[in-house]
Amino acid sequence: MRLATKLIIGITISIILICAGYCVILFHIPSSDSKYSSQVGKIEYKGQFLMPVENFNVVTSKYGARIDPISKEESFHTGIDLVGDTGSNILNIKKGEVTWAGWSDTGYGNCVEIKHIDETGKVFYSFYAHMRNNSICVETGQLVVEGQVLGIQGSTGWSTGEHLHFEIRLEDKIKIDPTPYLFTEM
Ligand SMILES: [Zn+2]
Repeated sequence: MRLATKLIIGITISIILICAGYCVILFHIPSSDSKYSSQVGKIEYKGQFLMPVENFNVVTSKYGARIDPISKEESFHTGIDLVGDTGSNILNIKKGEVTWAGWSDTGYGNCVEIKHIDETGKVFYSFYAHMRNNSICVETGQLVVEGQVLGIQGSTGWSTGEHLHFEIRLEDKIKIDPTPYLFTEM
């Protein structure tokens, strides 16, 4: 009888330890951060400019040298690729004037360029590419306000999936890294 009691206690303790082990394993599975790709890591939106894609989820390609996803050759990525929920609106980051709205044969697909003037009076441009067909809702020469809808996220031009290719261009049209205007850490 005493032996049976010891056995029951022993088995009960074993079951409790096994369950505890599973709990430890479960609590160590990463959850919320796993949607960010390991290439980019944890990012934080800074908000110097309005986030140009509504319902933003992830950065899929940074500014700089990379292997082009289509040609498979080394190339320079002149912007940052941002992905929002499917069919998200593309938003103007700051008030300005539309300098291009339409199709581009240079791989950008349906795209919009907007001229802005910063706090110091310097001209710069924001650029939004790969928008969905027939979604562009601004015209060249139009004055636009911050947050105005420019079109819908798409995959037109040289693109392997729905995303926004976003650029910042200086007055001489040199394309600089837009990351510091949007994020604190990449
Ligand atoms: Zn891109």
